[in-house]
Amino acid sequence: MDLLGGTGGPVRVAGRELPRDELFGRASAVAAEIRGAGAVAVHATASLETVAAVVGGLLAGVPVVPLPPDSGPAERAHILGDSGAELILAGGRTEVSATEPPLLPVDWLSPHDGGVDAEAAPDATALILYTSGTTGAPKGVLISRSAIAAGLDALAEAWAWTPGDVLVHGLPLFHVHGLVLGVLGPLRVGSPLVHTGRPKPELYAAAARDDGGSLFFGVPTVWSRTAADPSTAGALSGARLLVSGSAPLPVPVFERLSALTGHRPVERYGMTETLITVSARAEGDRRPGYVGTPLPGVETRLVSEDGAAVPPDGETPGELHVRAPLLFKGYLNRPEATAESFTPDGWFRTGDIATIGPDGWHRIVGRASTDLIKSGGYRIGAGEIENALLAHPAVREAAVVGTPHDDLGEQVTAYVVADGVGERQLIDFVAERLSAHKRPRVVHLVGSLPRNAMGKVVKSRLSEL
Ligand code: ATP
Ligand code: MG
Repeated sequence: MDLLGGTGGPVRVAGRELPRDELFGRASAVAAEIRGAGAVAVHATASLETVAAVVGGLLAGVPVVPLPPDSGPAERAHILGDSGAELILAGGRTEVSATEPPLLPVDWLSPHDGGVDAEAAPDATALILYTSGTTGAPKGVLISRSAIAAGLDALAEAWAWTPGDVLVHGLPLFHVHGLVLGVLGPLRVGSPLVHTGRPKPELYAAAARDDGGSLFFGVPTVWSRTAADPSTAGALSGARLLVSGSAPLPVPVFERLSALTGHRPVERYGMTETLITVSARAEGDRRPGYVGTPLPGVETRLVSEDGAAVPPDGETPGELHVRAPLLFKGYLNRPEATAESFTPDGWFRTGDIATIGPDGWHRIVGRASTDLIKSGGYRIGAGEIENALLAHPAVREAAVVGTPHDDLGEQVTAYVVADGVGERQLIDFVAERLSAHKRPRVVHLVGSLPRNAMGKVVKSRLSEL
């Protein structure tokens, strides 16, 4: 099956650009070196070498394992050991330690003619992507060629993404967002890619001005920084779509970004295991605090803790289940975790709590494990309280968790980054907006929140602050 389109615009990463045929020529050279390997790792810096190495793996039909370039030794050893990668593909100046698989430098390979796609079966593993490790050790997610194709085609339809778009982003190339959507997306659709090296608003603004950027991908941190800088945000007013994902886009950021750019951002929801499954559309409504409706070919449902169906009334939360051709095949080396994550009738349990309205619009309440606070008999979503705190002009970042409480079971506890406002004022501010049981009982003012490479708050580390 042809996973990547043969024709299309150039690929630029961190200021270096290759026409598509040259990129495929280099990728073919990589493919020739690795054919027959069980799996290869790619030292996934933001570079053309990373793109050529990943595409080379796809052309050879060899599963690719992207390695975060700045991961600590323990995470790196976990990913290399767990995946069984036989080689580490990287640009020239990289070094590997004696205990790691051998290095294959990919920047000296001279381009071969023509990119021949492997005769790989549609269900062959194309990528082994490790989850962000927000709630525990990163898990290796097996992603097939057909899942990537199905996911990207559904997105192209939902976002009216065509070869005429210029995609701009600066996201890491070892995660589903930056790599599958952000690199394989334009390669399949045929649109040019401008990867800005880093996800900085001023680089996005420059790409909008100088490169005709039309489609912009970011995580919420990127959009909140953009929204804090009116002239940078203003440079994005000529864009077609500003897309946010990987973590909840705070409602105040949605509003500010809309006001400054003239574009209501498109929020979408997905995970490494499900690629992207729910999104607002290019045509139609976009709602702050909501992630849209299921993509073409995707089915969703809500299930209560005792396994009963939850009605789509827009109010009752339940665990979100997904069934779709774009689902992952399973977790590498974790048959129990794989079995537990699917229901007997083939639905994937996301572990996220959501509501679904009668019109099909999904709202993500949060993760069952960290974002659902059980206090005094109430079930409270952390996100609603985080949004209420962020509506205060002095608040820059907020994370809310449940902490143990003798009487209530859990109490609402907030960690806030803010300038010149006291804990009492913040509690009163939220009390004016939300019902009494949702008011934080404790507010910790902190210098910054612990975040991982995707900009997600790692809630398990909040208690260390
Ligand atoms: P780990 O599984 O290792 O704990 P992780 O779940 O953060 O890490 P990813 O697969 O990168 O790893 O992230 C998927 C999760 O991100 C989803 O399950 C969901 O909780 C969250 N998420 C993604 N997009 C959104 C969104 N638009 N709104 C709210 N949450 C989102
Ligand atoms: Mg996860």
